[in-house]
Amino acid sequence: MTICSYCNEYETESYWTKYCPDCSMLRRMLILHNSKSCLEILKRVLIRNPTQIDYKVQLELKKKVNNDIEDYDKPNTRSQKKVVEKIN
Ligand SMILES: [Zn+2]
Repeated sequence: MTICSYCNEYETESYWTKYCPDCSMLRRMLILHNSKSCLEILKRVLIRNPTQIDYKVQLELKKKVNNDIEDYDKPNTRSQKKVVEKIN
């Protein structure tokens, strides 16, 4: 086993492979789909501008004030969705 040559964090599955399983999957996705479209999607999802960060902080603070934070994976209720719409 060797260290992945892309992320330099995880081990590869065998000595003869170059990437870890996660990076291999990422690489296959980039090959399957257009790399530019993948990059645009990642930019839209992962990179936030200061305004978006402010909205997110306000939303999280409001949740904390209302004691609505129980489980982040749990879907919002209708009343919580209305609060989100008012903020945005
Ligand atoms: Zn990797």
